[in-house]
Amino acid sequence: MTPEEATRYSRQIILPDFGTEGQDRLKRSRVLVIGMGGLGSPASLYLAAAGVGTLGICDFDKVDLTNLHRQVLHGTESVGRPKIDSARERLQSVNPEIEIRAHAEGVTVDNAVDLFREYDIIVDGSDNFPTRYLNNDAAYFAGKPLVYGSIFQFEGQLTVFHPAEGSPCYRCLFPQMPEPGTVPNCAEAGVLGALPGIIGSLQAMEAIKWITRCGKAPLGRLLVYDALRTRFQEVSIKPDPDCPLCGEHAGIQSIQAENYEWACEVPEPKPMSDSELPMEISVAESKRKRDAGAHLLDVREAFERDICKIEGAHPIPMKEIPHRLTELDKSQPLVVYCHHGMRSLRATQYLRQWGFEKAQSMSGGIDAWANEIEPDMRRY
Ligand SMILES: [Zn+2]
Repeated sequence: MTPEEATRYSRQIILPDFGTEGQDRLKRSRVLVIGMGGLGSPASLYLAAAGVGTLGICDFDKVDLTNLHRQVLHGTESVGRPKIDSARERLQSVNPEIEIRAHAEGVTVDNAVDLFREYDIIVDGSDNFPTRYLNNDAAYFAGKPLVYGSIFQFEGQLTVFHPAEGSPCYRCLFPQMPEPGTVPNCAEAGVLGALPGIIGSLQAMEAIKWITRCGKAPLGRLLVYDALRTRFQEVSIKPDPDCPLCGEHAGIQSIQAENYEWACEVPEPKPMSDSELPMEISVAESKRKRDAGAHLLDVREAFERDICKIEGAHPIPMKEIPHRLTELDKSQPLVVYCHHGMRSLRATQYLRQWGFEKAQSMSGGIDAWANEIEPDMRRY
């Protein structure tokens, strides 16, 4: 270590359990950050500043003015430029001691596994489902740990996926990609910049811990951050023996392009129905309807249903709805619910397009139900 490096990193070198050994490990490490957006900005800034010796960065997009409130790597003068260029300049200015490898083509079906093999750990800052599934699968085939982070409106999630050490992979939780149009992105759902700031910083922390062998990685634990209630909660997550990627009889044996195409093969929907019923109803009204015989549809994922559920609800995860419409009865009143009421509202809009005129979304989701109807129910 040069005298300048010793000075630059002095405040972390003096940490117990870190020391010059931790700093040397960082210097020898190779970390790949995918996406120079809301998550990748804080993640790559902290990794560069900490002295990760080889920092790989990926992005094929250009800086847009609407990115700047959360993608703090990029300045106003960079609007219109490739993100990879402004990211590289900013990161190199933060720390000229490190090597930055820019992968301007981004992660692709053709390069993913080989690219991941060049690095010790992968930080996933992607913001779309095809890339997220590709990253998960490529990390699995390359045998590398994947630091997962995601955000939605006021909620963030973090974990480290590494099936080689007994943790689940992303497909254990969400086996298949959701249908296009069933999930909103940042542009539709909205986001406050500080939220990806928090989750991306947690991702940097986990990568640094992993490399320097400090502390304990959240393998098998999903951290859920609720910004509105200022609350962190932990959900235990387990490998799924039926996982299509890491399960016992896995169907996915290699990276195949068709697994990451987000082509919409759902036929054109019928025009929006002119149902008189409001799209959303309160939990109290939902309970009245259920008690009067309405069917309940739970569009959450299996791991969420393990935490809590409303008795008698029929489970169909959001992304499977387009394939499982025949399980539902168009003639019956149907109350749709999820965690907070966002997914269920989208599902209800979708169902209405397909002629389920009596479908209604339970406002506030099962969380509001727990609050108002079943106070003993576990919340998350
Ligand atoms: Zn899996």
